[in-house]
Amino acid sequence: MKVVKFGGSSLASAEQVRKVCDIVLSDPDRKIVVVSAPGKRDKADTKVTDLLIAAANARLGGQPGAVEIDRVIERYASIAAELGLPEGSTDDIAADLRARLAMDTADAGLYLDTLKAAGEDNCAKLVATYLRAQGVDAHYVDPRDAGMVLSEESGNARVLEESYARLSTLRDMPGLLIFPGFFGYSRSGKVVTFPRGGSDITGAILARAASADVYENFTDVDSVFAASPAIVAHPEAVTEITYREMRELSYAGFSVFHDEALEPVFHAGITVNIKNTNNPAAPGTRIVAQRAVAPHRPVVGIAASRGFCSVYISKYMMNREIGFGRRLLQIFEEEGLSFEHMPSGIDNISVIVPESAFTTTVEEHVLGRISRELDADDVSAA
Ligand code: ASP
Repeated sequence: MKVVKFGGSSLASAEQVRKVCDIVLSDPDRKIVVVSAPGKRDKADTKVTDLLIAAANARLGGQPGAVEIDRVIERYASIAAELGLPEGSTDDIAADLRARLAMDTADAGLYLDTLKAAGEDNCAKLVATYLRAQGVDAHYVDPRDAGMVLSEESGNARVLEESYARLSTLRDMPGLLIFPGFFGYSRSGKVVTFPRGGSDITGAILARAASADVYENFTDVDSVFAASPAIVAHPEAVTEITYREMRELSYAGFSVFHDEALEPVFHAGITVNIKNTNNPAAPGTRIVAQRAVAPHRPVVGIAASRGFCSVYISKYMMNREIGFGRRLLQIFEEEGLSFEHMPSGIDNISVIVPESAFTTTVEEHVLGRISRELDADDVSAA
């Protein structure tokens, strides 16, 4: 049994939705289908999720947000029309989007997540409607009914352990199941979303819950590459990569697969197969516990990302001062800063922190503490 997830570019237009349905129907093992919201049709286009965020922010800022919502409604209507669905088949979607926009905005996090979740939710309904129109026994699954219970952290939710037992019943439900990615419900019944790109996480959770043999993750590239094709010409395709390597590279800048999506499948030992909706015959990249192909190759890929700040500390004879590293990190801990890396030399050490948390005020305060409390010779941030 396979859980299959399709990303936004795989659902951006009617032509893409048709490809998705052909892929799903070409293999009877594909039982649970997770969908993202329609993504960009071309480079200049806007993702449905970004339009929904713009609509929510408009209303939260006292504007109507109607222009943005109308663009979303139009996206679904044009996909449905091009798929040959009868007129009026997206009326429910339009009503749902308008109702969400009109909701009370007092709880800004809940309001934003309710709008963001609409992208995937309505996409799943549309795909199920289209499949049923083709005579397929397909069903939209409501994450609330299915038991996708998440922590109450707007825009940054995590799955709660109790979800797995509840979601395991999906395996025995009849027909093809179309499940919206990216969101679930808190114990108190509020809509909550995962971080951006979180439909990958939904797919991984369902793969573990339903004990899938494989989790197929369809995107718009033939495979993961050893380096970014935007920077390196013709990088080598990676056919196999371990969970650990993939998580490290996703965290460091690979954008193909969400770094938090590996946890559920890693624990269950389920193979992830990253494949291309536009070229489903290509074998793609397999994420496994142990590499069978080139198991001793030391470097599988190189990734990079921006947005970090380096705090440099030097002190003569630092290497002889036991406890220096602990006291240094304690300052970061006490200031509520998480650190990413800590390269060091004999008399110097750098602490790499996310730039977003390191405002000018925080920087001045932290540098001051380091130089006073650790009696450092030199402290600077870049
Ligand atoms: N639609 C959401 C986003 O754009 C989630 C996803 O595509 O995985 O972040």
